[in-house]
Amino acid sequence: MSPLRKALLFLSVELLPALGAAACLWLWWTRGVHALDLLLLAVMYVLAILGVELGLHRYFSHRSFTATPGLTRALVLLGSLAGQGPVLLWTAMHRTHHANTDEVGDPHSPLVADGRPRSALSRALWAQFLWYLDRPEIVTWRARAEGTAPFDQLTSDWRRVPGLLAWNRAYWPTFFAGFALPALVGGLVSGSDGALRGLLAGGFLRHFLVTQSIYGVNTVCHLWGSRPHATRDGSRNNAIMAWLTLGAGWHNTHHAFPGSARLDEHGWQVDPTGWVIRALARAGLVTAVHGLPARGR
Ligand SMILES: [Zn+2]
Ligand SMILES: [Zn+2]
Repeated sequence: MSPLRKALLFLSVELLPALGAAACLWLWWTRGVHALDLLLLAVMYVLAILGVELGLHRYFSHRSFTATPGLTRALVLLGSLAGQGPVLLWTAMHRTHHANTDEVGDPHSPLVADGRPRSALSRALWAQFLWYLDRPEIVTWRARAEGTAPFDQLTSDWRRVPGLLAWNRAYWPTFFAGFALPALVGGLVSGSDGALRGLLAGGFLRHFLVTQSIYGVNTVCHLWGSRPHATRDGSRNNAIMAWLTLGAGWHNTHHAFPGSARLDEHGWQVDPTGWVIRALARAGLVTAVHGLPARGR
């Protein structure tokens, strides 16, 4: 990947969202916080995190349940809204993570030096903020959307699904709709000031928080937390990350049972994503929900 491409990628993934989030906080500091700002931030955050954890992760990457064609398309859109890359790219990258967890070949392990002399801190910062710059697939996904390269074969199961490649290509319009939608709602309620607030809170600040929370699973949940299951990797359960990611923070449990649609082994563990999957099953939109094999759930 050329230095210019790396710079543009870093700008779009990290710098622009951070600047937009800072602008939102500045607006709140100087002109006050409105209830609608917080509502748009919360609703968009929950939708985007569910798009990643329920859609990209538990459904597309691990097929922990079966969804109707309509729900499948909705989950492509929610996953795209989150701005973590198109669904098939995310799925291929995550399957690579599971195939090589905390070994050479893991796209974002904070535990692998990968031949380079790196301190523990620099590995953690790389896993949180920079790992995607070392993955050429990130910028060539568009050219390879129809390809048969080894990386694409990681998602061959989904590539066979009629229409899914077309929905996968709707990534950018959907991603930008995630900024336009809260701006529109804010504008309808209180004019140009509301539109700006909606854009900054429901768009930029939300996107910044979603990105850091999801990348935090790659970093924090392979460094800090408990290990109730003796997996061969360094995955950990972290309750704070579980709250932030609506359940993904039970990451040691996930690596122990990657095919499970639920991660709440104990009653005190919050797993809102698993709760939503069970609600969708009751509504008839989801079938073949895989449980935790150890507990038979
Ligand atoms: Zn992991
Ligand atoms: Zn996974």
